[in-house]
Amino acid sequence: MNANNSANIFCIANQKGGVGKTTTAINLAAALAALRKRVLLIDLDPQGNATMGSGVDKNGAGEHLYQVLIGDATIAQARVKSESGGYDVLPANRELSGAEIDLIQMESREQQLKNAIQHVVNDYDFILIDCPPTLSLLTLNGLASAHGVIIPMQCEYFALEGLSDLVNTIKRVYNNINPELQLIGLLRVMFDTRVTLQQQVSSQIETHFGEKVFKTVIPRNVRLAEAPSHGLPGVIYDRNSRGAKAYVEFGDELLKRVKKEALRQQARPRI
Ligand code: ATP
Ligand code: MG
Repeated sequence: MNANNSANIFCIANQKGGVGKTTTAINLAAALAALRKRVLLIDLDPQGNATMGSGVDKNGAGEHLYQVLIGDATIAQARVKSESGGYDVLPANRELSGAEIDLIQMESREQQLKNAIQHVVNDYDFILIDCPPTLSLLTLNGLASAHGVIIPMQCEYFALEGLSDLVNTIKRVYNNINPELQLIGLLRVMFDTRVTLQQQVSSQIETHFGEKVFKTVIPRNVRLAEAPSHGLPGVIYDRNSRGAKAYVEFGDELLKRVKKEALRQQARPRI
């Protein structure tokens, strides 16, 4: 994590589909913005759910992440404000799926996003990247740009098994492309305390990953699922709902973790 004043850059990633990545990205962005942090949310998924869920029209005029990745626009040109969330969005839509093919022909193809981000790192306290449910070249661009990865996960039977692919990818990116990359933490989402199996898997995750598991647990909460259809982050749509409160708490916990980590880095002797 970052000891200086430029943005902390975090990917929200899990190659499993529908586990709550986008919901986490949007609500964390809004929770951090409510804490007066300057936030950019990058939608790295051609589905464009983070864009729409932030109240931004994914098919609207203007540049999108696609143009940024192929070098036709800068982030400063393409970003738009999420009026409802209080943060900036770098929007995406279906066009982005074409970037995979365009990127293959480029030199340092996994570094395109990182290069683009360099120009705006001082504009933000946090840059959050909502990754697609794949371990594709797009996700690789996300991981190559980031200081860390936040993994939202459901406490289901195969959850731990599915994680090993992602953890191996993170290790490979760390070893070969991005020596700054860390696993920031695992966030248990869509949690239902009434389900015994979920409690069992939750304790297994704690045993296995220890301190890397965030204390905050996001409950299954229908208000979080309703919010995107109103173009609002859940924490804004119904701030008194259990889901909203949990994401606000998560924002707090992440801030504390970031501060602790930054202090630890400052304390390290410089060589
Ligand atoms: P994809 O892999 O397709 O990008 P994702 O990992 O980004 O999916 P989301 O889109 O955030 O997952 O969530 C999947 C579905 O679950 C959505 O309909 C969302 O509204 C719903 N959902 C997410 N978190 C919760 C929650 N805590 N409680 C209830 N519903 C939730
Ligand atoms: Mg998503």
